[in-house]
Amino acid sequence: MLLPNILLLIGLCVVYALAQPTTEDYEGVAQPRIYSPDSQTLDYVYHNHDEMTRFLRATSARHPNLTALYSIGKSIQGRDLWVMVVSSSPYEHMIGKPDVKYVGNIHGNEPVGRELLLHLIEYFVTNYHTDPYVKWLLDNTRIHILPSMNPDGYAVSKEGGCDGAQGRYNARGFDLNRNFPDYFKQNNNRGQPETDAVKEWISKIQFVLSGSLHGGALVASYPYDNTPNARICRSSALCAMFQSYSSTPSLTPDDDVFKHLSLTYANNHKKMSRGVACKSAFPAFEKGITNGAAWYPLTGGMQDYNYVWYGCMEVTLEISCCKFPPAQELRRYWDDNQLSMIKFLAEAHRGVQGFVIDASGIPVERASLKIKGRDVGFQTTRYGEFWRILLPGVYKLEVYADGFIPKEVDFVVVEQHPTLLNVTLQPGKRSDGPHFRPFVAPPHYRPQPERDQGIFSSISNGLNGLYNSIFG
Ligand SMILES: [Zn+2]
Repeated sequence: MLLPNILLLIGLCVVYALAQPTTEDYEGVAQPRIYSPDSQTLDYVYHNHDEMTRFLRATSARHPNLTALYSIGKSIQGRDLWVMVVSSSPYEHMIGKPDVKYVGNIHGNEPVGRELLLHLIEYFVTNYHTDPYVKWLLDNTRIHILPSMNPDGYAVSKEGGCDGAQGRYNARGFDLNRNFPDYFKQNNNRGQPETDAVKEWISKIQFVLSGSLHGGALVASYPYDNTPNARICRSSALCAMFQSYSSTPSLTPDDDVFKHLSLTYANNHKKMSRGVACKSAFPAFEKGITNGAAWYPLTGGMQDYNYVWYGCMEVTLEISCCKFPPAQELRRYWDDNQLSMIKFLAEAHRGVQGFVIDASGIPVERASLKIKGRDVGFQTTRYGEFWRILLPGVYKLEVYADGFIPKEVDFVVVEQHPTLLNVTLQPGKRSDGPHFRPFVAPPHYRPQPERDQGIFSSISNGLNGLYNSIFG
């Protein structure tokens, strides 16, 4: 059979990948890079939308084998929501290997993450051939980077504005991090184009891990953001001050994993794990992490949506006490966050991963999976793939799919490498048995090369227009 051979080949590739340097090998390699101020490098200044577009376009042209640029849609005022893929396979999903993402600038007046993501892109492409850890990460992961989810808000924000809300919202005045469907409460906010674009994006790609970058605090905040019982704050700043010591945590069944992911970011950050309060009236976060609802509950946040609907583990990364600090501080923010941003993504290679196939070796798409005792489920992709980040331990995987006999499989997770677990389902009666969340099956997503139809043809058209406006 061809498919078992393919699966064997994939298995060998994964084994090979596991033999590559791990996160533990990185300590001696990671050094903050000095950027020479020539035209080939990215300055430590804030880049407006046109400048950011020019940088992304130039980088993708200079590194066509490591990057692919696409737009997931447009803001209300017509700015493209650019995503740069950085990977040794930028145009195609690598079967068996995880897709991960970063989203920056969802609040327009919190642009440190937006700039750091541009620097992260540059760091990856300039170090791929010399840094074995970067090479390992890009050879085994597709990293999707959306530097600005709210370019319209950014356009009306002011450098130096540490507090306040000017530019926080989109051009219609909506807070995009209150604009997602909510698991706990009905969200009556009308869906915005920026949110709808992200929802469609994450419905098409099975992201395993995600970070959403914010400013105004220094903490890694993990789901749930919402809770079934607490009152909801309208203003994050006021909530931080008045509710920080009174809210109760709202914990997921994967709380151990979320704490670990948050600690991975905080512990690799130069300052975050110290848990120092940004201002005397602000909360100090022990070890630099917090449960979202324990800080202040909110409805319609992006991280809960990622996790509950699609099984993607997203953490909210608050990386600057000042929301929009002066540009001369950007270099320091990069130094503080560089290692965190890289090591966080590598956590996608922890836990269990594998394929669900039928007796003939055909992948089973949209099988519902759940780790026993953890009642937030996930699904297989069109290739039958699945991933779940788990800490070392003994687990049981429950698998359900229409037309197959349900199956439970015991497995062990170790620290050193992900556990590979292939599950073969036997045919059975059509099952009306339990279907775990997510309710919406994410069809798989595969950006096409520019010459093909699909998302890239529209991107290509957009880029031709950009070329004309920039160079023509
Ligand atoms: Zn924010």
